[in-house]
Amino acid sequence: MSLDSTSAPNFIRNQIREEIDTGRVDTVVTRFPPEPNGYLHIGHAKSICLNFGLAEQFEGQCNLRFDDTNPAKEEQAYIDAIKEDVEWLGFMWAGKVRFASDYFDQLYAWAIHLIKEGKAYVDDLSAEEMREYRGTLTEPGKPSPYRERSIEENLDLLERMKRGEFAEGEKALRAKIDMAAANINLRDPVLYRIRHAAHHQSGDKWKIYPSYDFTHGQSDAIEGVTHSVCTLEFEDHRPLYEWFLSNLPVPSRPRQIEFARLNLNYTVTSKRKLKLLVDKHIVDGWDDPRMPTISGMRRRGYTPTSIRKFCDMIGVTRADGVVDINMLYHAIRSDLEDNAPRAMCVMKPLKVVLTNLDEAHEEVFEAPGHPAREDMGMRKLPFTREIWIDADDFLEEPPKKFFRLAPGQEVRLRNAYVIRCDEVIKDDAGNISELHCSVDLDTLGKNPEGRKVKGVIHWVSAKHGVPVEVRNYDNLFQVEAPDKDRDVDFLEHLNPESLQVVHAVGEPDLAKVKPETSFQFERVGYFCADRHDCRDGKLVFNRTVSLKDGWAKMQKKG
Ligand code: ATP
Ligand code: MG
Repeated sequence: MSLDSTSAPNFIRNQIREEIDTGRVDTVVTRFPPEPNGYLHIGHAKSICLNFGLAEQFEGQCNLRFDDTNPAKEEQAYIDAIKEDVEWLGFMWAGKVRFASDYFDQLYAWAIHLIKEGKAYVDDLSAEEMREYRGTLTEPGKPSPYRERSIEENLDLLERMKRGEFAEGEKALRAKIDMAAANINLRDPVLYRIRHAAHHQSGDKWKIYPSYDFTHGQSDAIEGVTHSVCTLEFEDHRPLYEWFLSNLPVPSRPRQIEFARLNLNYTVTSKRKLKLLVDKHIVDGWDDPRMPTISGMRRRGYTPTSIRKFCDMIGVTRADGVVDINMLYHAIRSDLEDNAPRAMCVMKPLKVVLTNLDEAHEEVFEAPGHPAREDMGMRKLPFTREIWIDADDFLEEPPKKFFRLAPGQEVRLRNAYVIRCDEVIKDDAGNISELHCSVDLDTLGKNPEGRKVKGVIHWVSAKHGVPVEVRNYDNLFQVEAPDKDRDVDFLEHLNPESLQVVHAVGEPDLAKVKPETSFQFERVGYFCADRHDCRDGKLVFNRTVSLKDGWAKMQKKG
């Protein structure tokens, strides 16, 4: 993959460029640090493109490090899925996959170091009490009655916490910094909590687990990370991040830089909420094509290129904002416009009998796989006496300028002849059951004599067409900011029409499709053969995106 998609300038790039030019930094080392408590989503893609992109651009390295300090919520299955997603996006981490849990021994040694320096203590306050003692933004906190324990007692208690002698919540190890600090994060933050939980990497070894804050910066330092790029909510944690680096004998001195997280309208990007959608079976798993997860987008038909392009379009800043989902649709649409082969697929089949052809009439037309891509070759379109057209391409009483089929009106069948509708056949209930039309055989590749036929519609031979299950996906939420309102459950905003299944008929070559192949179904949209369900002779396509480009239109209007 070319570097272009991840090398657009941004404030972090500029800053690093300057550091390299002035010799402050030699080799750039970044990391992507997911917690394995869910699948990656489009917001993570922004962070991945940024971190791996920086490493690519400056010929440094980017580590993949699982931030696995909370065994209760983490799982091996998430680790596997996250690795697969990062690779699928086209990035490769430097060396082996890393885990914060690889550093548990070192972190424990550093905790002892802090105790010995008089900078950490074991506290018996409950979590609830700690919160009360912590104070507020306007009021200083007050010291815990256990704050002045002796070094010996602290060392003994920590050792016993580690051995599992205490119940969860009974004690915690805290840094001894400043209970009156203006920044609440510096008011004696918790370093270790007791948790009698087995860990997916370290098994039963530990009964205590380090906090995120006590883990992250030190893990960065151990790995020689030069730039620890994270989202803005960690800005207030930076003084603490630096306090640990200053007060511990760490092997290197990483720097934390914050950027604004990605928010997308009509979308939730919180792992907790996405997990709820999965657990409540509102969606068909983490990779449901309506999910903003990388794996859901993949199943929907997004390409790695389109996601990287999108991340490039939105840029990296420190200003919080909401990105219009049409930008994402635009990114995939323009990729597929150039790279997806064309096919005809009739969504709402209406039978057309071409009465002036023999029962046995068979002709095969050829059409380009892609109008601008000779490398995609030609496709074969068998043409027979009975064909399917889309019911929406016919109106019994057409308005003016309806350039499709209507009684007595002519239309061109794409890549084939002009036909005229002679008769509308209805069933007993008065519903249209088929149309009888005649073909003008003198219109192949040329206009009919003396008349202009404006409309072109798609079609499929009734004899040779193949049944296709089409899953039309739309936004999962029907409001722009589904989780904005604290008083309203975001599930209230689910779009009841986010999935509509239709039984379509496609051109015969579609039968050969492999899962995860995308097509433009002409005049309809872009569709991708489902990874899981399009197999064993069953054709299942997911609508990735329609043809209409809301984003490009808006840009033009300016
Ligand atoms: P969530 O809020 O969805 O649970 P998280 O921040 O807890 O996400 P992590 O696994 O800790 O998830 O995230 C790994 C990295 O991805 C972090 O560096 C985090 O800052 C970044 N990240 C998470 N969400 C976004 C987002 N919406 N935009 C940009 N970066 C993000
Ligand atoms: Mg996080």
